[in-house]
Amino acid sequence: MKRDFAPKVKLRRGIVIYKRRRRWWYFGFFVLLVFLGILAFYAYNNVFASETVPKLTGKSLEESKDLTGQEGFGLKISKEFSKYPEGMVISQTPKSGELLNRGGIILLVVSRGTKRTLSEEVSTGAKNPLPAESEKIELEAKKEADDEIFQTKASKWVVCIDPGHQEHANISSEPVGPNSSITKEKCKGGATGINSKTPEYKIVLQMGLKLRDLLEKEGVKVVMIRITNDVDISNAERAQIANKAKANLFVRIHCNGSSNASSNGIMILYPSKNEWCAPIYNESKRAAQFVQQELVGACGRPDKGIVSRGDITGFNWSKVPVILPEICFLSNPEEDALLNKESFQNEVAQGLFKGVMKYLESGA
Ligand SMILES: [Zn+2]
Repeated sequence: MKRDFAPKVKLRRGIVIYKRRRRWWYFGFFVLLVFLGILAFYAYNNVFASETVPKLTGKSLEESKDLTGQEGFGLKISKEFSKYPEGMVISQTPKSGELLNRGGIILLVVSRGTKRTLSEEVSTGAKNPLPAESEKIELEAKKEADDEIFQTKASKWVVCIDPGHQEHANISSEPVGPNSSITKEKCKGGATGINSKTPEYKIVLQMGLKLRDLLEKEGVKVVMIRITNDVDISNAERAQIANKAKANLFVRIHCNGSSNASSNGIMILYPSKNEWCAPIYNESKRAAQFVQQELVGACGRPDKGIVSRGDITGFNWSKVPVILPEICFLSNPEEDALLNKESFQNEVAQGLFKGVMKYLESGA
């Protein structure tokens, strides 16, 4: 019994001590491996994985893609009007000769050719969209921060688009202007198609989104008051969103309605010179004139002119130039049918877009 018992204890002790030593040894080895791994990673990235950025300025976009593809670089491209031929790289970041990690992004500005003025545009075919596409082609765009660097010329402008009304009217009241004792409904229900029964809020959202796309293609920053119908935003709140965005222009899209089914055509409302809107009166009127002219030209409906109004909450709360295009009458059978057609909505969006751009380019 004794002989059997003694070696067993020794054996147990031996195992315990042995195991402890081995753990320390494993741990040390593991730390060393991690250290070497990190060292190798840095060495690889700094010495072996970086490449010299080739000279792309002055080359064609196609050539640049070939050159950078071989080196494993990604490209982020933005297009701008310039005096250089269309498709030519006019600047690059980082510059040629600098080191960049494989897979890194080179930002390129590519020429869109000479800019045609909007009046040339109109005379060469009013129904055509602006020439070369201006959208950013993004290849392996990794960092959102790059967008900041890559603002094209037009992005100095902000346009706020308010597709009028909403799915459910809000009839509780709000002051018609700051400190006003007069109140109005927060958001009235709009018109409805006399035959189609399509509600105004649906049509103006569709047109608003089309206008947004056209402006964004041109590099203009767009703030949408709403992109769905199921919202609850009062008219005063809408104006305050435009103020906060410091919009160069606040465009409130509506369709008209009348008890007289023969009423038709397009008009634009703009603020009056009342106690709230005097500072934005001139610019709003100027914008209304530009947009009305382009809108009527683009969709060929009767011109009902521009009209100033002092009783509109969404104007009185606005501190930025504001217009409210009343695009045709949903109470008119012919215009109701047109407003429900995608092709007509495209013409409206083109007209709004051209008018807004003309206003912005005139020194907004
Ligand atoms: Zn309306």
